[in-house]
Parts: sequence; C-alpha cells; structure tokens
Amino acid sequence: MKHDVRSPVQLDSAAPPIEGLSPFAGSGQLDRALTTFLASSSQMLCEWIAAKSDHGPLPRLSVLLDAAPEPIGRDADGLLADLRTAMEGAYQPHHPGALAHLDPPPLTSSLAAELIAAGLNNNLLAEELAPSLSRLERGVCTWMARRLGFPEGSGGVAASGGTLSTLNALVCARRRQGLQSRADAVIVASEEAHVSLAKAAAVMGLAADGLVSVPTDGEGRLCVDALSGQLAALEQTRRPVIAVVATAGTTVRGAVDPLGAIAGLCRERQLWFHIDGAIGAVFGLSRRERTRVPGLAMADSLTVNPQKLLGISKTSSLLLLRDPAWLREAFQTGLPYMEPSWGGGHGGECGLQGSRPAEVLKLWLGLRQLGLDGIEAVLRGALERRRTLERQLDATSLQIAGGPLHLLAVTPRHLPPEGAERWAEQTRRVLLERHLMLSRPHYRGRSWLKAVLGNPYTDAGLLTELAELLNRSALSS
Ligand SMILES: *Cc1c(COP(=O)(O)O)cnc(C)c1O
Repeated sequence: MKHDVRSPVQLDSAAPPIEGLSPFAGSGQLDRALTTFLASSSQMLCEWIAAKSDHGPLPRLSVLLDAAPEPIGRDADGLLADLRTAMEGAYQPHHPGALAHLDPPPLTSSLAAELIAAGLNNNLLAEELAPSLSRLERGVCTWMARRLGFPEGSGGVAASGGTLSTLNALVCARRRQGLQSRADAVIVASEEAHVSLAKAAAVMGLAADGLVSVPTDGEGRLCVDALSGQLAALEQTRRPVIAVVATAGTTVRGAVDPLGAIAGLCRERQLWFHIDGAIGAVFGLSRRERTRVPGLAMADSLTVNPQKLLGISKTSSLLLLRDPAWLREAFQTGLPYMEPSWGGGHGGECGLQGSRPAEVLKLWLGLRQLGLDGIEAVLRGALERRRTLERQLDATSLQIAGGPLHLLAVTPRHLPPEGAERWAEQTRRVLLERHLMLSRPHYRGRSWLKAVLGNPYTDAGLLTELAELLNRSALSS
C-alpha cells in the first residue's frame, strides 16, 4: 500500500456555512443540516487520513484544546473547527512509520460502523435496548470461538479492552473453582505476562503475593518444568489456584507460551486455564498461520483483541469461553428494571461493564469486509514485514528478541545496560527525525527498541531504511 498523498488538513474556506444544526436530529423528515454536518466531518477525516505529514506519526505539537464549554453553544462550523484542532494534535496510526505499538490504522469499515453505532446508540446492557445487536454479539463470539477450535456450545462476550476481558475471565474462574472466599488464592502466569494481570489481582483483592510469576526460557516462553514445580509448591503450602494464565503473544517480543503442555498440567490438576491471546489469538483465525499459536482451543477461557492487528477500531476485545453460561453464573445480578432477556441473557450480566456500546458492530462489519481471505492477508502481510525487517538486521551487532508473530525488539550486543539505555534513547530520537517511530521497552534488565509490524502502510523500502539506521546505530554506539 502506498502512501503518497500530500498536504496537511486544510480548512475548506470555500464551503458554505452549515445553517441550523440542532443538538438533536430532526425526525419525521431528513435533517439536511445534519446530513451536511456529517458529510463535512467525513470529508475532514478523509483529508486527515490522506494528508502526508511533514513529521512522523507523532504530532509536532500537542495542541491545547479549550476544555470548557462556552456560555453559548457552538454552531456546526465552530464544531468542525474544534474537531479540526483536535485532529491536528492527534497521533497518526496510518503514518507508514507508525511501528511502535499494537495500534494499527482502522479498517475503513470501522469508520462507518462507529458512526452508525453512535447514531443507533443502542446499549448492550439489556436485550430490549439492543435487541438485534445483543444477538449479533453472541453470534460473533460463537463464530470466533468455533473458528479458533472451541467446541460446540462455546461463546463469549465483548468488553472494552483486553484488560477487562481477562478480568472477566478470572472472576469467572474464581467462582467456578469455588474460591470466592479464599483470600490466599493465586493466579499463576509467566514473568513476561501482561501488566493487566497485576490489575486484575488488585481489583479481585488478592494477597500482595497473589500473582505468582513463573520464569521464562531464552525465547520468552513460560518454562513448563518451572510451572510444574511452582504448582507443586503451591499445593504444599495449600495456596489454591484461581487460574493458570498463558500468553499467546507477549507484549515486547510476541512470544507464545507452550499452550498444549500448560493445558496438560492444568487438566491433570483440574485448574482453570486462561490464555491471554490479546496479541496472538487472531493468528488462530488463519488456516495457514494458526500453527503459530497451537493449542488455543485447549483453554477454558481466551482473551482476543481484534483491535491489535486486524484494524478494528478501539476498543475491540472478546472473551471467549468453553461455556458462556459461566459468565452469567459469575455476573448475574438480576436487572429488575428491565424486561427479561429473550436471548442468551442480558449483556450487562455477562461481565463487569454495565451500559456499553455496540462495539460488536464494527467487529462484525470488519470481519465481513475482510472476509477469510482478507484476514489471512492482514496476518501474512504483518509476518512478511517482520521477515523483511529481520532479514536486514545485523545480527552480529544487534541482539534480536522475537517470537513467531509480527513483533521484534533489538538491543546492541556489546553495550552494558546503561549504554543500551543511552543508545535506545538516542536512536529513537534519530528514528523519529526520519519519521519512524519505535517503542523503547525495558526488558530483561536493559533497554530495547521494539518494532510492531502491523501497519499495512509500511512498505519494504521503509523497512530497509529502518534496518540500515538500526544497524548503523549499533555499530557506532
Ligand atoms: C494489550 C494487551 C493486553 C491488554 O489489552 P487492552 O485492550 O490494552 O486492555 C493484555 N495482554 C496483552 C498480551 C496485551 O498485549
């Protein structure tokens, strides 16, 4: 994909003013002012996406917006001007040099679906507030679970982000394991598991040592022998286990824990097995690439974040479970002010969130837009960019940390930690001057530069430039 359009966002001063936009759309007949307002907003957004910035993905300045409303409300043109200012200060995920994080540009279908979802303003809290969309959410979860290999009867629920999906899973797990009243219960995960587990432990009120870390191997994967030893030790000290959490795609390097072996240990000991597949689970959707994340379907519960690589706009996360009825067991409160659910239960009784938007609309539309072929193409494109970059990196001067997915991190081999820290800071600055943005994680006691190759606008030429800059920086450091 080429990114060769020019010019920053311009205010179209030739456009006639929009007259008479009311705060609420007129009904009974077409609201012409609203139609023009939305068309102008769309136009402005498309120009912003097309504009080739003369800086990198980061805005040159963080713009200072007037936070307070004015005494008299703004008219349509004033609102468009406000939006334009906000856009000027925004991070640009579609910039080809945006390679720092797991935040790809949004699918075009997401733009339309978000607009429509805002207009429908349905509420997934209760069936009567989102009759068809509640069903759609259950349907998409079931499709996704089955596609990833879960058995008949599996399903799930959407949540605003992977952090919440995993928290929902762990609350379910604690209940299913009958451990609600055990203050000494623990969650077991690798030392490279995501920080959201620490939040879950805190929210769930676990003891200070309630998140037990298991060492990883040289490739960043949880050591199964160490896990086995840890579980035996917990049993000896009579600490009950809420869940063992494996990661399919760690945040720094995309490592995938040995899911099958961990599932085996969990089964032997009748422990709940959760997989944090926020990054990697989408690879399971591809018949060709799913061997990169083997064993996803052995989980009791699985977090998937379609926002992280597939381009569904934020937030888009699902929790999939072998049996979605477990969610209702854990979160059912009764909603005495609502009509009973006529489907599979109210959305607000399947997780921690109450009122929530129909995020499923953009996920569903995005999957429909891509098709199975398109999903495959997104995944393969990301993997190909990773290969292209890695092939050109000088592995004698750079240590490369990767896994089977689309991210990798590098650090100069010869530098001690303080030197690596200076190198990462300086090199990130040099790269930003060239409009290339990498992130600077701290990993294994030193600084790295990390590239996430999920941006479809990044072409091979840019990756060559990136590799050359990294190689040169390592040699001259
Ligand atoms: C991003 C991420 C999460 C958390 O997801 P959010 O949507 O940011 O809440 C959890 N686990 C892993 C491995 C992640 O990379």
